[in-house]
Amino acid sequence: MSLPVVAIVGRPNVGKSTIFNRLAGQRIAIIEDQPGITRDRIYSRSEWNGREFHLIDTGGLEFGKQDEILTHIKNQVELALEEADVILFMVDGRDGVTASDQEVAKMLYRTNKPVMVGVNKLDHPKQLDLSYDFYQLGFTEIFALSSLHGTGTGDLLDAIVERFPPETEEELDEDTIRVSLIGRPNVGKSSLLNAMLGEERVIVSPVAGTTRDAVDTHFEQDGQKFTLIDTAGVRKKGKVYESIEKYSVLRALKAIERSDVCLIVIDGERGIAEQDKRIAGYAHEAGCASIFVVNKWDLVTKDDQTMNQFSKLVRGHFSFMDYAPILYVSAKTKQRLTKILPAVMDVAERHALRISTSVINQVIQDAVMVTPPPSHRGKRLRIQYATQVAVKPPTFVLFVNNPELAHFSYVRYLDNKLRQTFGFEGTPIRLHLRNKR
Ligand code: GDP
Ligand code: GDP
Repeated sequence: MSLPVVAIVGRPNVGKSTIFNRLAGQRIAIIEDQPGITRDRIYSRSEWNGREFHLIDTGGLEFGKQDEILTHIKNQVELALEEADVILFMVDGRDGVTASDQEVAKMLYRTNKPVMVGVNKLDHPKQLDLSYDFYQLGFTEIFALSSLHGTGTGDLLDAIVERFPPETEEELDEDTIRVSLIGRPNVGKSSLLNAMLGEERVIVSPVAGTTRDAVDTHFEQDGQKFTLIDTAGVRKKGKVYESIEKYSVLRALKAIERSDVCLIVIDGERGIAEQDKRIAGYAHEAGCASIFVVNKWDLVTKDDQTMNQFSKLVRGHFSFMDYAPILYVSAKTKQRLTKILPAVMDVAERHALRISTSVINQVIQDAVMVTPPPSHRGKRLRIQYATQVAVKPPTFVLFVNNPELAHFSYVRYLDNKLRQTFGFEGTPIRLHLRNKR
């Protein structure tokens, strides 16, 4: 199941981005910061009391006509109404109820979704009474907050999490590879989806509403079952905000968390943009296998060097994902589309690869023999043993005398050795160092 989404709405300057940063402070710790990965400051994967969720600051979305503030807010609220499970409506407690607050409230009346009112900037205990004024907005869940100091946020998060839909495990068929097409607007995701499904293939069922916002298509090819995950955004188009780059990230996030393999679609004609990197970064961090699909290759004027040059560009921009293969296709002419599913099968196999402990230890021992860990202040890292603790993505734990003695570049070296030996093409791998007690 997709993670619940909490959207922050409200007029400018009430403290949306401040509360976002506060709440995003609960960011999942397993995500390691890696050079080359940039993040949007409007999306965060957070956790409270063991429930994970996506948080969006709709105030950070750019809707074009910046001068018309009301239109701007209207688009934000529209998006929240459509996408969020819980809406956090921020207001400025010191200003009292303003006309724009009332406008926002009116738009929010149209939904059955829970609306929490965060009455912000109440920095002093004496000011807490100011929040009562906001009951006139018509909502009952009112929280006095100081985003600056962090007061009130615990109660707010408790209430938000309580209103999430019940947690249900999606029934996962282990024999099925779940694939999604992610990328910026207009790179050709829908065209690719249709082209891939348009070929002769048994479409078992496009089931609407099996999850809240995804339309999945199940099919089989060469005895392999696939589920093509389509966040509604790929097929159902037309909303004002659909074409907004930053918004496409939310679609991607929702698809990524349900995928084994992400097809990261890039526009071969327009080239690589910052937003492509963010989207790819999310797939990498989520531990999905990935393939770069450079689409619209029919529009590119080519000579025998063009593909190499473009590949260099991809490698330069996505240095954190040098494991992902690159395919050059055209949804329009169907050039090389038949390469996609075999590539998906390949990387999915690596993504789920399990290696025996004895083999891993042999590889690590050999690696240490060839290049021993450098000593650090007279001490040297010693690796006791290694084991694989998870698949999807392959995750290894090295038990060592002291993890702090491991230099980043040495971990990288071991990482590469594992890759060279087992050929983890297409999948990230994780290497954790633990203290052996
Ligand atoms: P946004 O436009 O709604 O995203 O608002 P921001 O988060 O950018 O905040 C607008 C201004 O209000 C900034 O100068 C913040 O430092 C300030 N601010 C936000 N939260 C609080 C708060 O709890 N107390 C006080 N005193 N100032 C705050
Ligand atoms: P999405 O927003 O990523 O789903 O992109 P669409 O599939 O809607 O495609 C955006 C535009 O690019 C449409 O006008 C498509 O017809 C066009 N397009 C998609 N793929 C190709 C391609 O391979 N070649 C060419 N020439 N145009 C394409």
